[in-house]
Amino acid sequence: MARGQQKLQSQAKAAEKMAKQKKQQGHNANEQKKAALKALVFVCTVCKAQMPDPKTYKQHFENKHPKNELPDELKNVCP
Ligand SMILES: [Zn+2]
Repeated sequence: MARGQQKLQSQAKAAEKMAKQKKQQGHNANEQKKAALKALVFVCTVCKAQMPDPKTYKQHFENKHPKNELPDELKNVCP
C-alpha cells in the first residue's frame, strides 16, 4: 500500500510542478506583452539609446552602427 501511495504522491507532485511551470510561462508572456504596450520603447542593443518606435530605431541603428548586424526585431521593419 505504501508503494502505491508513494507513486500517487509523486504523480501528483509532478502534475503540480508542471502546472506551476505553465502558469509561470503564461505569466511571463503576459508581462512582456504588457511591458511592450506600456513602454513602446526600443532600446538600442549597442548604445542603449531609447527609441520611441522601430522605424526610428532602425534608422538610428543603420546610421550609428552600420557595422553591427541588425537585431532580429528590426529585420521585419519596413523602411
Ligand atoms: Zn545605438
